[in-house]
Amino acid sequence: MRPLPMSLEPITGESLASYLLRLAYRLSVPPLHLARITGLASGPHHGHLDRKLLLDIAPPQAESFARLARVTTAEVTALTLSSWQDRYPPIARSISGRGRSSRSDSWVFITSPRFCPSCLAGDGTAAWRLHGGPWRKIWHLPVVFACVEHQEFLLDACPHCRQNSPGPLIHRMNDNTLDPAQCRRPLAGLPAPGRRTPACGGRLDTPAAAQCDVTTRPAAALMDFQQSLLSWLTPSAPAREASEYFTDLRLIAALISTSWPQGRHLADAASAEKIAAHIQDQRREAADAPRNRRIIDPLPRDPAACAALLAAARLLLDEDDLEGALPQLTRAASSSRPSRTPWARIFTRHQHTCSERLRAAAGPVTRTFRKIGGCRGTRALLRDDYRPEHIAAFLQLDWYQRHLAHFSGMAPKIVRRTAAVRLVQWATGGSQGDAATYLGINPRHVQFKTASGTRQRAQARFQPADFDAALRELAAELRTPRQPLIDYLRRRQALQEWALDTSTWETLVNDLPPIPGPIHPVIDDRKRQDASIFVWTQVTCGEHLFAPRPIETAQPPHIQREWAQRRNTTWFQLARPDPLRHYADLQRSLARYAAHLARDIDAGRPPAN
Ligand SMILES: [Zn+2]
Ligand SMILES: [Zn+2]
Repeated sequence: MRPLPMSLEPITGESLASYLLRLAYRLSVPPLHLARITGLASGPHHGHLDRKLLLDIAPPQAESFARLARVTTAEVTALTLSSWQDRYPPIARSISGRGRSSRSDSWVFITSPRFCPSCLAGDGTAAWRLHGGPWRKIWHLPVVFACVEHQEFLLDACPHCRQNSPGPLIHRMNDNTLDPAQCRRPLAGLPAPGRRTPACGGRLDTPAAAQCDVTTRPAAALMDFQQSLLSWLTPSAPAREASEYFTDLRLIAALISTSWPQGRHLADAASAEKIAAHIQDQRREAADAPRNRRIIDPLPRDPAACAALLAAARLLLDEDDLEGALPQLTRAASSSRPSRTPWARIFTRHQHTCSERLRAAAGPVTRTFRKIGGCRGTRALLRDDYRPEHIAAFLQLDWYQRHLAHFSGMAPKIVRRTAAVRLVQWATGGSQGDAATYLGINPRHVQFKTASGTRQRAQARFQPADFDAALRELAAELRTPRQPLIDYLRRRQALQEWALDTSTWETLVNDLPPIPGPIHPVIDDRKRQDASIFVWTQVTCGEHLFAPRPIETAQPPHIQREWAQRRNTTWFQLARPDPLRHYADLQRSLARYAAHLARDIDAGRPPAN
């Protein structure tokens, strides 16, 4: 077949349907004619385009189309969504789906894309004035709710006839009177006898089209969010991470939808209202389905509602304590067994493309729970390589050094504390707060900080996923530990209100080597308190901030205040690696005592308090 007499250069980012419409318009032929001669509409369904052509086009078809249209094969392939299939999983799912796209993924709008009127109006160049702007491929992705160029929400329906239901890839394939920016949908109502149903013909590229939603311009933050979503589709983003990100968003959006109104706090009032309306519609549609199949997976068609739901999903996904946040929503989603909830079903469907982080967080709420001994009320074993009591509140130094020390730029103190909390969470389920309480990290005494604080994370380029991966390696190592694991819970409990009693303290001090010279170090109750804390940190492997202070607590308030003011300086002397003579001697003696005490506790001989 001979090439067409005239052609058009495809516009970057336009869809196959868009190119066909524009080329047909240029040649003044119906799109169907073009589709037939280029071999796109052939076979039993030659009256219309296979909807799958939007997703992918077979190489022989692409080649013959390219020859006729006088463009390159690569340009033809670029008109399909296939270029994103490895970073946006719903595309791959739709391509591999059997049948004539009857079961395409709900996270792709195959036939009824949303659109930006200003983009359709074109950029004013001569070519675009003649043939109009392109229908963009990204409009077929429900995660695209706004045009970043024109800072407007997309339109989800023709503003004239309000139609937006799915249909063929191109309506009225045989009509050569409409231009690419006109609505091709048939007008409702019966046609006059002997005549075809007229088309709506409304212009989709005029300010009038945009006007209908002008009151609801997306906020700047939403535009940033849209931009970041789009950046995942560019080749500069790693495909695998992109694919995981979109899957995570989808799973979390489905969780929010399924458990609504549990996640209401994730959106402002106006957004929550939009999400609620969407969910009401979806629930009405699913009312007849069995309870555990009432999955709400599609994104809202309305762009503002869609943006609201996605933004809420992102907020939850960014939650530091994802493991802790998920159960609140999944519990609400159903009262049945966790593995049978609607969300567990959708999770199972997508878990192979979601992130490791979400998979780990979702483990306890999608699998069958089992109780673990010793911790009444805590359930859901995610890991059984170790038990929570084996984790020291201030993560064991050698574990830290082997697995986590490379997280530089973040205080080791914070890393060790965070790691301990996380490991306990993995073993017991529950929230970050529960794990911290279990470890005796008392948020009332000190501002509880972990490495997941957003600001710190930004400063340290802290990647939760990397951190979790390193922690998982550590956890796996605990299955065959290098040394027998220690029951730190028992040690913490044994020393709950503990301090060196006066006679032990005096013995310890009297045994210290004499200090030459006239000045003798002070040996008072304040130092006894600090020495006790030193022993406590050694035995429990905890931070001095969280140690009990029974001697201090027994003092009158003004003494307590005085001690509190001097706390850091004494502690510094006692804990520094290169102490002065007296403190070095004291350190050695206390460490020996601590080793004894630990052995006694482990052997079931706790000190009498
Ligand atoms: Zn636009
Ligand atoms: Zn219309």
